[in-house]
Amino acid sequence: MNFQSILISLLTITLSYSSCPLTSAPRRPVRYSTPNLEDLPQRAIDTLDTPDPETKVILYSNNTWSYYRPTLQTLDELPVYREHWDTTQVFAYRSIELADLPPVIDLNLISALSDFHYPVKGKVISKYGRRGRRNHNGVDIPLLMGEPVYATFDGRIRYSKYNTGGFGNLVIIRHKNGLETWYAHLSKRNVETEQYVKAGQIIGFIGSTGRSRGPHLHYEMRYCDQTFDPEFIVDFESGQIRYQTFALEKSFFNINSRASDQLEEEDDWDDSFSLLASESNDNTSEDILERITNPQKSQAKAGINQSNAVYHTIRQGDMLSKLAIRYGVSVDQICRLNGISRTTILRLGRKLRIK
Ligand SMILES: [Zn+2]
Repeated sequence: MNFQSILISLLTITLSYSSCPLTSAPRRPVRYSTPNLEDLPQRAIDTLDTPDPETKVILYSNNTWSYYRPTLQTLDELPVYREHWDTTQVFAYRSIELADLPPVIDLNLISALSDFHYPVKGKVISKYGRRGRRNHNGVDIPLLMGEPVYATFDGRIRYSKYNTGGFGNLVIIRHKNGLETWYAHLSKRNVETEQYVKAGQIIGFIGSTGRSRGPHLHYEMRYCDQTFDPEFIVDFESGQIRYQTFALEKSFFNINSRASDQLEEEDDWDDSFSLLASESNDNTSEDILERITNPQKSQAKAGINQSNAVYHTIRQGDMLSKLAIRYGVSVDQICRLNGISRTTILRLGRKLRIK
């Protein structure tokens, strides 16, 4: 029996089951009792390409198929894990300039074989963009100390060590499409360089190491060392990925190119961004560098921010809705200013910013 005749017999069985039933009884699920696929000799008859150049689909003579998964040895030989592979320094593409990159880089983010998992889920309190004279090259998401941090995609650990430049415990994963994801200020790293990881694998835990003023994840996405706003790709609040493939335009490597300015569905939270931006100027881990390099200016800035701010210390019986009425603000505003949600449990003695 050759492949075609099996196919025809399968089609015949399918057609005979799907022809109009004479009664209104619920249709039984289609069962291929004969031929028994498991009993047929399995012989590879063809391979098909997939969008992922390293992955093939193999067709078998018994009308089944499977993915061909490359071995780790094969992965080791991929140029992306051999070239510009530096496990000692954060920047690995020193010989490649921004000008050398093409106008658009097509990033294959997820497929049947490569998954996505949010690094952490939470509110971005400090976005990608300019911070005075400095650049904030990633996003900051405050979380509880010790919460797990996950690999965003499958990949290989390029860097895992304590970074004295301010990142603290830093893990950098290089993914097969060339994208790198950076996870900074971790309390503990869970992976070693050269190791392969799967999307969703715990690579470390939330901390406040390096230049950080509280437990949070500083998360970056880079391509050839160039940063772009990770919010183009990840919706951190919902933990969802925005695209299956992403056209990374060269213009996105500009520090002023922010996802929030370009994603239509986010237009309605632009107001909260400006509120957050003014708040987070005071709050980012990286601002401490400015305190070191320019203490007078940063003190003055902090003073201005504080003089306009209104705080409330939580007492027994306080609820967000009551506070909102008492101070004449919205519950959403209080949530935004403090990076909390409507369901956050308010600890007694906690100081909330109201305005
Ligand atoms: Zn940061």
